[in-house]
Amino acid sequence: MLRPSFIGSFPRADTQLDPPLPEVAFLGRSNVGKSSLLNALVGRRIAKISGTPGKTRALNVFLVPVAQIVAAQHAAPLPHASMYFLDLPGYGYARVGKAQRAAFRGLVKHTLRRDRLRGVVWLLDIRHPLSPDDQTMQDALAEEGKQVLAALTKGDKLSSGKRGTRECELREELGLPEEQVVVTSAKTGEGIVDLKEAIAGLVRGAA
Ligand code: GDP
Repeated sequence: MLRPSFIGSFPRADTQLDPPLPEVAFLGRSNVGKSSLLNALVGRRIAKISGTPGKTRALNVFLVPVAQIVAAQHAAPLPHASMYFLDLPGYGYARVGKAQRAAFRGLVKHTLRRDRLRGVVWLLDIRHPLSPDDQTMQDALAEEGKQVLAALTKGDKLSSGKRGTRECELREELGLPEEQVVVTSAKTGEGIVDLKEAIAGLVRGAA
């Protein structure tokens, strides 16, 4: 049985991966809950829950069996047995210097231009408005024209009423349709199945 595995940490975003497979990138402010969500998606602790925000400056690559994302009996199986999850460093950490910021921008730009990148899961804390760094990221995503899924994280931190309100507000702020915005919680598992389905949609090219 195939298991999700860590492939490596690459300082260059144009690194060729072998074998070539569909790719999905994960992006978000540091502390947004990216490692927790990745672990919830793959059902294992493959990504480290960060102790030191802003520390990773490379692209972390995970090989993920499609069976992890799509139920075996699913009507429309994917054409590959596995895919890559590309975990980009968290952004928006105040104590990062100018050179590191520039390196991060380059890493994002080149990741978004990878041939096999099918889309981006962009993580935003459901409780917060978009930060200036989030807005910069929104522009970069729009510029590269990649499919975006917004995963609103830490849904369990709000009451269900407030969750619905914030989901609508953020959807409007992001200008994304309902099917591209998913409320999630790594703690309760809320939205994980929906997010998996949306990721499968990206990989199928159906989104
Ligand atoms: P990263 O820096 O984006 O990788 O974020 P982490 O996954 O390391 O999470 C940052 C902090 O938020 C940690 O203290 C996590 O335990 C917490 N956290 C992450 N996801 C959730 C969630 O869904 N619910 C709650 N309540 N806390 C979360």
